[in-house]
Amino acid sequence: MEMLNTEKSRSFYEEAIDHVPMGVNSNYRLVLNYPLYLKRGKGSKVWDVDGNEYIDFNMAYGAMEVGYGNPLIVNEVVKTVEEGSILGFEYCKAIELAKIIKKRYNVDMVRFSSTGTEATMHSIRIARAYSRKKKIIKFEGHYHGSHDQLLVNVDPEKSMVKLPSSEGIPEEVIKNTLIAEWNNLESFEKIIRENKDIGAVIMEPIAMNMGLIPPDKDFLKGVVELSRENNITVIFDEIKTGGKSFSGASDYVEVEPDIKVIGKSIAGGLPLSVIAGKREVMSILNSGRVAHGGTFNANPLSVRAAIVTLEKILTENAFYKMKRLNRMLTRGYNDIIEDLSLEASISSLAISGTIYFHNKVPKNYSEFLNVDVEKWRNYFSKMMGRGIIPMADYDEQWTLSIAHDEKDIENHLTIAENTLKEIKSL
Ligand code: PMP
Repeated sequence: MEMLNTEKSRSFYEEAIDHVPMGVNSNYRLVLNYPLYLKRGKGSKVWDVDGNEYIDFNMAYGAMEVGYGNPLIVNEVVKTVEEGSILGFEYCKAIELAKIIKKRYNVDMVRFSSTGTEATMHSIRIARAYSRKKKIIKFEGHYHGSHDQLLVNVDPEKSMVKLPSSEGIPEEVIKNTLIAEWNNLESFEKIIRENKDIGAVIMEPIAMNMGLIPPDKDFLKGVVELSRENNITVIFDEIKTGGKSFSGASDYVEVEPDIKVIGKSIAGGLPLSVIAGKREVMSILNSGRVAHGGTFNANPLSVRAAIVTLEKILTENAFYKMKRLNRMLTRGYNDIIEDLSLEASISSLAISGTIYFHNKVPKNYSEFLNVDVEKWRNYFSKMMGRGIIPMADYDEQWTLSIAHDEKDIENHLTIAENTLKEIKSL
């Protein structure tokens, strides 16, 4: 099967590296030898600078569930730009959005930021200010954005020892960050027993930065109960999960946190993140002595795009349809793997899923380190070469949008079958 020609992307890359370190504006975009340089998208498809068309299942790392160029978003954004993209002071419609979020996500108070990184960073500050304690716990392999204190144990190429996952982060900055193992309540309990000054625990309630690893039954219940007993504020990082189902992780897990942070798909592709939680915790901001600021916080473009996204596009009915398509994609992959007796497994939930080149779905970060990354890269480059973007990286997952249809799923599965057959015979 012939592969798409991406020579122009290659030459864009060769030019870019002279001006932009690594040729990309986010380290994670360089997965193969050079990235695709994309030009535009429409519905479930994107086009690169060579003019190739791809059916996209990455959907901007899950931020584009509304589909590219969604007319409802386009109209709202154009109208808003005409009235002023950002006005300074407080935008009148931010209250409307706060009310929508409160109802949908079962929270009492809401503050807006622009990116996931900002939101998790501020959530930690709020939790520490509330609990008046300085240590925090995170879980191995969970990613909470690119800020210093939580950038620990997220890079599978790095060792399991507690080390910053980036140069430029002093050891002192992560001194108060403690690390527990996902799906291991004993490791969490041990940390609590051995440390007295823990103010917060943060986690992705369904781990989506090592593929897709749901919590074991009762694990989150145990984490929340132990936290409550020890006055530890519980933060769910729902930057991803918040948009994977109508009410986010609450549709799948049995417990509620004190703070939720939500982002990615919530504003139809515009930058908006939400820090939301219980009145008692969020009220700590009322004193004015806990800093949370941002020029672009709750800007009109993001606020109005979010209102349209939540009220008119990502409705319960839309999720019903997207989940059905996801089951179709998942079943198709499982059938192919079984038919080929391939050493691979699928983890899938709501509107996302992933393939592990390993005989079982990992339960935690150390098991995740056993997946065959070389095989995944081979699969990825072949799928891309045949016009399917299956996901963005081996620790990522596919995300369906309202623009995907059965034909997209069928095309994906046909190409996946051919690709996996080749991988099997290598
Ligand atoms: N939290 C989680 C769970 C994420 O997956 C990400 C990004 N993939 C972030 C935080 C950071 O979000 P952003 O890239 O918008 O800063």
